[in-house]
Amino acid sequence: MSVLIYIDQAEGQIKKSSFEAASYGARLAEQTSTQAEAVVVGNSSADLSMLGKYGIKKVHHVNNEMLNHFDAQTYTRVIGQVTEACQATVVVLSNNVNGKAIAPGLSARLKAGLVAGAVSLPDTSNGFVVKKGVFSGKAFANVNVLSPIKIIGLTPNAFSPVAGEGTAEVVAFNASIDAPRVKHLATNKVQGQIPLSEAELVISGGRGLKGSENWGMIEELAGLIGAATACSRAVADAHWRPHHEHVGQTGGSIAPNLYFAVGISGAIQHLAGVNRSKVIVVINKDPEAPFFKAADYGIVGDAFEVMPKVIDAVKKLKG
Ligand code: FAD
Repeated sequence: MSVLIYIDQAEGQIKKSSFEAASYGARLAEQTSTQAEAVVVGNSSADLSMLGKYGIKKVHHVNNEMLNHFDAQTYTRVIGQVTEACQATVVVLSNNVNGKAIAPGLSARLKAGLVAGAVSLPDTSNGFVVKKGVFSGKAFANVNVLSPIKIIGLTPNAFSPVAGEGTAEVVAFNASIDAPRVKHLATNKVQGQIPLSEAELVISGGRGLKGSENWGMIEELAGLIGAATACSRAVADAHWRPHHEHVGQTGGSIAPNLYFAVGISGAIQHLAGVNRSKVIVVINKDPEAPFFKAADYGIVGDAFEVMPKVIDAVKKLKG
């Protein structure tokens, strides 16, 4: 019996959300007196034994050139085989884009109950009760998972990774891989940008910025502090910014340490994608803008006057 954690990677690098899942799974293993094991699919440039620092005892590395590009169907089959081989009773993965693509298929394959969007460790004192966010984070539900195998999709940023001492044993796992149903042709990366899903700091602009020609100040501040840029849907719909920057209910869902919103009203559909951010700063000229209710810090003022001052202040701080 064990808790198995899926370690998601991007270009062979372990994602931050995987360290959160690893720490969460290790704590759960401790709580249920079992062992935390991990599965890594595809090539990795990381020293996988360092997952031991996060409480992982054993890493199953399924390394095959057919697995070097993420494919939800193939990855699901492989993770299913590892789950069966190590007789895991709980599978933990991040509820990020890849985790969301894997979890439903894995749940069907293993006949496992799935809780997507878990925000804390399960209460195992009477059943297996997991707290999860519902209604775009507006409420929480407690779900008792009854099936013998349970799958938990951990909300990114809901559980802080805890690094200590330790080295994990790394073993090669020979999975049976069917002929792929899709073929990866190419990846076209947007040059010089920090991917939104991984960003710790995000500077975002809304319709209050009046037009794409005014994004210089958003990009300048982002460049100064090493942040990714985002926008509201209204902005992406107006083609002021590319759609991959749009966050909210119908866009990306992010949980950075800082979300800095400029000229965004804070409609409920926008908040749905950003309200898990640790610190929210809002600049809006309307003191009644709904975003101020969700903000940790708010500046009532014209973005065209406030932003140059913020940029100057950051430049001074950086020397
Ligand atoms: P506006 O609502 O036009 O707000 C602009 C803000 O800028 C105002 O608060 C104004 O006071 C302020 N402002 C104006 N000038 C200045 C200035 N000079 N300085 C400072 N502040 C200024 N929206 C999303 O963002 N993401 C989604 O995923 C999303 N999904 C949706 C799904 C559905 C089904 C629906 C119906 C809507 C969805 N929307 C989504 C749209 C959402 O309801 C809002 O219309 C949208 O978020 C508004 O974008 P905005 O705040 O940039 O623009």
